[in-house]
Amino acid sequence: MNNTDYLMLSGIQHFVFCKRQCGLIHLEQAWNENTLTLEGQALHERVDNPEAENRPNIKIERSLSIKSERLKLFGRADLVEFHKIDKQNYKPFPVEYKRGKPKQGLEDKIQLCAQAFCLEETFDCEIVKGALFYGKEKRRQEVEFNTELRAQTIKAAEGFHEMMKNNFLPPSEFGPKCKNCSLIEICLPESEGIKIEEYLNSHDSIL
Ligand code: SF4
Repeated sequence: MNNTDYLMLSGIQHFVFCKRQCGLIHLEQAWNENTLTLEGQALHERVDNPEAENRPNIKIERSLSIKSERLKLFGRADLVEFHKIDKQNYKPFPVEYKRGKPKQGLEDKIQLCAQAFCLEETFDCEIVKGALFYGKEKRRQEVEFNTELRAQTIKAAEGFHEMMKNNFLPPSEFGPKCKNCSLIEICLPESEGIKIEEYLNSHDSIL
């Protein structure tokens, strides 16, 4: 296995939300304080799942290292429940924790589905569904890993790899989503696809 072939699984969520945001984070390492703070908060806001933990037929694994040969992605699953299906066998059920509330876009579902691909490879099984837990609403949303979502996940993984391989920073896709983007000040969505280094070189006064 060549490690450079593998990308961070969390990047698929950035890629689906906005290709430029994904490029800024994964090609340009353009984090800002806000991004790090929010992601840090998200980790700490992750709530326990006493319901599942008290059920005798469910075992819990947290922060499980996962990878998929098929998608060439690796990362960690927040929480995986192993549901007992008979005397000896368990089936994985991934649960991803998110701050905020359910989104209109598919980014969270695709990230969860990518986790399911990883777990299916690791445990040689089929996983039909998982769940997203949204901190703001404190409720689970079940996600079915149907053919359509699987196809969208494969396509997103391929697009993410293509972007990284070509070292191509996509142009901005200015729209309503930008107001929720922590990289808006770095992205400068009106300045179509300019690289950060180019922007900084042309604005010596702020260096
Ligand atoms: S500001 Fe808008 S275009 Fe720029 S990275 Fe964020 S979401 Fe994408």
